[in-house]
Amino acid sequence: MGKIDWVIVILFLAATSSPALTIVRQFAGGEQPTNAIGGNLADVFNAASDMWELAIHDDHVLVLEFGWAPVVGSFSSHTLLDHDGARETRGRILFDNDLSAAHMTFWLDPTPWSAEEFASYHERRADLGGGDIVVARSWSTAPGTRLLGADVMTVALHEIGHSLGLSLGHPRWRAESADGSIEIVPPLPYARSVLDLATNLYGVTSHLSGNPPTGGALMAGSASDQARTLVGGADILANAGMSRWTNLNISLAPCLRIAGSSPDTLTLHWWSPVPGWVLESKSSLAGDAWQPLGSGNPATITLKGGSGFFRLRD
Ligand SMILES: [Zn+2]
Repeated sequence: MGKIDWVIVILFLAATSSPALTIVRQFAGGEQPTNAIGGNLADVFNAASDMWELAIHDDHVLVLEFGWAPVVGSFSSHTLLDHDGARETRGRILFDNDLSAAHMTFWLDPTPWSAEEFASYHERRADLGGGDIVVARSWSTAPGTRLLGADVMTVALHEIGHSLGLSLGHPRWRAESADGSIEIVPPLPYARSVLDLATNLYGVTSHLSGNPPTGGALMAGSASDQARTLVGGADILANAGMSRWTNLNISLAPCLRIAGSSPDTLTLHWWSPVPGWVLESKSSLAGDAWQPLGSGNPATITLKGGSGFFRLRD
């Protein structure tokens, strides 16, 4: 942010569908435990899935079963159930309901698509060998304040991150992780980036190293009641290295979807998990000034003579 960075200018009549990662979400049931409070798991899981769909744009369908069930020694788990030789195609993400993690309270954000509970947004930039990127993104609460419990949105984002590549069950896991890191090689973008993996007593783990520059990344960390960790560049690149994702939205630029139209208006859905993006419109390319449309979702554009223009910038 800071510098003006024109990202998308679209004549709406020319808008076509682009390749996409589709995460099919299947609620597998289970009862919510008493140490998980607030909203509901489905909303949180949907918002977390939406953020990953924003980050990766390759054509692929991933079915994720999610629900409440006993999980041993942790609040959440991911299991790869099936793959197509290169990528996971079906997985299961479970959130603990046998209170084995009862020493902590977990908070289900009733409004997981927004971050109004948090006071400040942070980005950490680094060059991992393939060019400067935002390695990690997070929100934190105001000094001295806490959420009602550890942020389940962060947990869901982390577990879905495992399903997109960083998984011990991934068909390429053994070959890729043997040297303790994931290397990004051409033709992937940000080639020559290297992402070190964390180790434990048994060897290499499916997490990013907690040391700089990946410390603080979603796939390195865990949930807290004072922060929300978002999908960052290191998380996207690590999964790209494993699953060969090539269409990456490292900046998490919002996607626009046309939700409806009339002869005089066009209705747009858009969601930006990071602050700073502005949606603007004008009714003709010549002359008129761009008008900000505010942060409302959906946004409505007024058309003149059946046409209108909009753009996103940060
Ligand atoms: Zn993990």
